Amino acid sequence: MTLTRTQAMDLLHKYGISPRKSLGQNFVIEPNTIRQVIELSSIKPSDFIIEIGPGIGSLTLSLLEVAGHVTAVEIDSALVEILEDSLEPEDKKFRLIHADVMDLDLNELLIARNETWKLVANLPYNISVPLICDFLERVPAITKMTVMVQREVAERLVAKPGEKAFGLPSLKVQYFAEVKKIADVPSSVFLPKPKVESSLLQIKRLEKHSISTNPELLFELAKQAFNQRRKMLRRSLKDIFELNDFESVGIDPTSRAEDITLEEWISLTEKFVRKREKS
Ligand code: SAM
Repeated sequence: MTLTRTQAMDLLHKYGISPRKSLGQNFVIEPNTIRQVIELSSIKPSDFIIEIGPGIGSLTLSLLEVAGHVTAVEIDSALVEILEDSLEPEDKKFRLIHADVMDLDLNELLIARNETWKLVANLPYNISVPLICDFLERVPAITKMTVMVQREVAERLVAKPGEKAFGLPSLKVQYFAEVKKIADVPSSVFLPKPKVESSLLQIKRLEKHSISTNPELLFELAKQAFNQRRKMLRRSLKDIFELNDFESVGIDPTSRAEDITLEEWISLTEKFVRKREKS
């Protein structure tokens, strides 16, 4: 079951709610889009799902039909009221948490219930990048994400070195996961219709890292270089590396942050660790 445009408008009207731009409230009101998200998420009846921002429940209703359990986190008390009235709060398959997801300790919330979770969500656009990066870095219980994001964000996260869109978020996401854009979603399926187009991303956590580097250190180095992305590495990282440090790990010191592959960032991080141990 999904909500049509008319049902969604009736619900908002009945509760006197106007969608809040500051919370990224663009509700999906096209049942075919919800069906597509559900199909592409390949959810099994035993799956535990976490949804961030259930809104008026368009996706949540369909998730509850196919999953073993759904935990949904919603910040807006007016929407929590709608959800509590329209979904069954006493349903053992469903848990609604009224909170700002950025303030929650998701590990605490998830680990007690099950070992692995899938995130399926139409994410609030203003927090989608930090949220995806944070979950990959800090919430290992989430092993797969099928998320709707702004198309420009999707393009940034799948970008490869050498491409203009490649940046620190691309590097972070690709360190932890395999990321693919699996569908484009037109702005016409949302209420209200946003100014930008959207895409559906699939992010699968890599099971094992073939690499044994320190991700915090790697991201610190990359952050310093990306903060001055127009500068060559020999300039942006000059207080950390000498010219021959780059050469010793096979990196051209005249390259810029966006040209460096994940493997090269790993070599640079390891070089930094060796230098630090020596000094
Ligand atoms: N899932 C619904 C849908 O597809 O129609 C709504 C998606 S809407 C793009 C984003 C939702 O995230 C809104 O319901 C909004 O209130 C909620 N939200 C925004 N910021 C949040 C936060 N920090 N924590 C939890 N929920 C948040």
